[in-house]
Amino acid sequence: MNKKILGIIGGGQLGMFICIAAKKIGVKTVVYSNEANFSAKNFCDKYFVGNLDNVLQINQFINSADFFTVETENIPKQFLRAIQKQKKLFPSNEIIEIAQNRLREKQFLNNIKGIKTAPYFSINNFKELRDCTKEFQYNCILKTQEFGYDGKGQYFIKDANLTKFKSLNLNNFILEKKIDFQLEISVIIVSNLKKTIYYPPVENLHRESILRQTIYPARINNEVSNMAVKMALTISKRLKLEGVLAVEMFVTKNQEILINEIAPRPHNSGHWTMDATNFSQFDNLVNMIMKDKLRMPKVLKNCKMINIIGNEYLKFKEIENKFISYDYFKKDLRPNRKMGHYIDFG
Ligand code: ADP
Ligand code: MG
Repeated sequence: MNKKILGIIGGGQLGMFICIAAKKIGVKTVVYSNEANFSAKNFCDKYFVGNLDNVLQINQFINSADFFTVETENIPKQFLRAIQKQKKLFPSNEIIEIAQNRLREKQFLNNIKGIKTAPYFSINNFKELRDCTKEFQYNCILKTQEFGYDGKGQYFIKDANLTKFKSLNLNNFILEKKIDFQLEISVIIVSNLKKTIYYPPVENLHRESILRQTIYPARINNEVSNMAVKMALTISKRLKLEGVLAVEMFVTKNQEILINEIAPRPHNSGHWTMDATNFSQFDNLVNMIMKDKLRMPKVLKNCKMINIIGNEYLKFKEIENKFISYDYFKKDLRPNRKMGHYIDFG
């Protein structure tokens, strides 16, 4: 029997689903959460609650497990490096450090032959913002380089009136041209160097920069679909991926693919794999780390995964009566917070 323990940094819904997948195969989990109330609390075997810079506690956490993974890329580098010095982290801290900084991530991606992102500029002061927004004809998005998620730390710029940005400390930002895409898709890869598997492209609908729905299959032709998978595989290979990688993409109106961003962890757009494939993104991640087993998934059904966000959660009981539903057990209901999701096979 495999007695090794899996450590997970982050105890949100992704951490919770990793714990559930681990339990299915008899693997014990330890979660490190920076919040006292967290989704994974009732699903892990042990947990630590503390700031992500609490060295003493980080060391106790590292001593308490054999292998480690993450549910977010927003983790201080010291934490990741401390793990990697002593134990094995999936994926490596080098990969997480690329994905956690939008500038480094874009430089990395554009250096790969055949891979392109939206045009961008690095921004560090107001003058640069003024010049570069003009270059993009005032149709662009300003983003913090680090610690953004679900559209946080992002500002849409639509005209030359930039006065509100004068008060912002513009250090370490990035300005991206706004892409007039046809649709957004994502591809999820799981790899352990010896073997690589992928989930087919899904279509992602966002509102206010937050994922609302994921649709399988994506409404793209075979050529675009094959190209998307090929690009995701190319990126994961270049990263020497050992873990999960989600690749978010824009499909432009002339059927070109631009990479939006990469996430080296299970992804919200992969939640459908729990109910419509025979081996979910979480199953593959946990089996790869703990049992050296990776399985190319079979898709069983078409479906839509719909996020339950903010006040929509007040209707959770009604939703649960009609659909396969997941509660993230979050203590506070906040606007724009992901509270759960459900699956519609209709
Ligand atoms: P997050 O880390 O919050 O997911 P993203 O960069 O993926 O940040 O942005 C969230 C969403 O905002 C995207 O999925 C897309 O809908 C929209 N968006 C972001 N960047 C661009 C862009 N350059 N052009 C058009 N839409 C964008
Ligand atoms: Mg994104």
